[in-house]
Amino acid sequence: MTQRIIDAHVHLDMYSDKAQEQILKELNTFHIDHLISVSNHVSSARTNLQLAHQNQRVKPAIGFHPEQKLPDEEELQQLFSLIDRNKEDITAIGEVGLPYYLRKDAPSLKLQPYVDLLEHFIQIAVKLNKPIILHAIYEDADLACDLLEKYDFHKAHFHWFKGSPATIQRMMNNQYFISVTPDCLYESEIQQLIEQYPLRLMMVETDGPWPFEGIFKDKLTHPKMIHQSMMTISKLKGVALDEVYQQLYQNTIRFYGD
Ligand SMILES: [Zn+2]
Repeated sequence: MTQRIIDAHVHLDMYSDKAQEQILKELNTFHIDHLISVSNHVSSARTNLQLAHQNQRVKPAIGFHPEQKLPDEEELQQLFSLIDRNKEDITAIGEVGLPYYLRKDAPSLKLQPYVDLLEHFIQIAVKLNKPIILHAIYEDADLACDLLEKYDFHKAHFHWFKGSPATIQRMMNNQYFISVTPDCLYESEIQQLIEQYPLRLMMVETDGPWPFEGIFKDKLTHPKMIHQSMMTISKLKGVALDEVYQQLYQNTIRFYGD
C-alpha cells in the first residue's frame, strides 16, 4: 500500500536552494506527489513559476500575502499581468487574504484596502475559474466569506484555518476546504477543528518553511511531516489511516486537479 500525499500549501520559493533541492530529491522517498507552492509577491511568484518549470510536481499559485505592506500600483500591475500571462500554468490564485497578525501589531492599519485587493483577487479567480488560497482567520474569515458569497464562488481553500464555531459552520455550509498543518499534533484548537470539520472538505499542508514545535522542534519543515498529521487525523476522526490517506489525496486532486 502506498500512502501518497500532497502538500496543499507550501512556500517552496522561501527555502534555501539547498533545502529546495533536498525536498525535491526526496519527494519519491516520502510518497509526496505534488506541492502546491504559493507566492507572497511578484518575485516570489517568479521563483515558483521557475521551480514548477523545472519540476512538474511543483504546482504554482500566484498571489500577494496579506501579512505585509500593500504593494504599490506598479507592483500590483506586474502581479496581475504575471497571472494573466501564466494563467495556463498556474494551479490557483494565492496566497491572498487579510492581515490578521499585522493588525494585531498595528491596530491603526486600514483594513479596507486589503479587503479591496482580496475582492480583486476573487474576481480574477472567478474569471479564470481557478481555486483561491486564503489566509483569513478568526473574524477575517467572515469577511472573506462575505466576498466569496457575493460572487457565489465556492472554490475556496482556507489554509491553516482557525475560527469561531459560527464561522466553521458557515464554511461547512459553503463547502469551503480547509487544510491542517503539523501543529495538529499538539494544538488543541486545531484538534477540535479536525473533529468538527468533514474529512471530505479537508486537505493537509506544511506552510513550510514555517517552523513547528513538539516533535518537529528545530527541524526543517518538510512535506514528509504530513505523514504524522495523517496519523493524528486518523486518531481524532476515528477513521482508518488508509481511508484518511485516500480521502485527503482525492480531495486535493479534486480541488486542484492533477
Ligand atoms: Zn502560507
